[in-house]
Amino acid sequence: MSDIRPHEIMVPTSDPDDARLRFIGRIHTPWTDRKDCPRQGKQDGPECRIEVFEPWVPALKGIEDYDQIEVLYWLDRSRRDLVVQNPGHTDKTFGTFALRSPVRPNPIGTVGAKLISVEGPNLIVRGLDCMNGTPLIDLKPDRCAFSPKAAPKD
Ligand code: SAM
Repeated sequence: MSDIRPHEIMVPTSDPDDARLRFIGRIHTPWTDRKDCPRQGKQDGPECRIEVFEPWVPALKGIEDYDQIEVLYWLDRSRRDLVVQNPGHTDKTFGTFALRSPVRPNPIGTVGAKLISVEGPNLIVRGLDCMNGTPLIDLKPDRCAFSPKAAPKD
């Protein structure tokens, strides 16, 4: 994994066949209690802060060109052992893969967030639905808005 193109930047990380996750940041939201958290984020929700850790801060280069980003996070306070669930709002049961419940074998949450600003290693966004302190796994430009507002210069 040492072949890189000119101007690319590499950091030490794991081999592709190592499936252990490395958290790349932390999400700061107003919600400390699960019951206060929205079930899905709303674009007019409160401003939240996504903090990206080193050595991944340079990976934000160009993200400011997008209005919408996809945020992937690890629902770290979730149980992982239910295959059939009874969501609180109904008396019906559903298989885990028919739900967006945080309770899943690998509790990965995804949300489309509105990017308000980039302040160094911090992204200010609206539209999140996770508790304060939730670990960040990845960030991507929204797939529908894959072309940036203005193409990056390099
Ligand atoms: N938007 C994501 C998705 O669809 O993949 C997550 C949806 S899940 C229904 C959101 C709920 O997960 C919140 O309302 C809250 O109850 C719970 N939750 C939020 N942050 C969590 C965390 N860090 N650990 C466990 N549960 C969490």
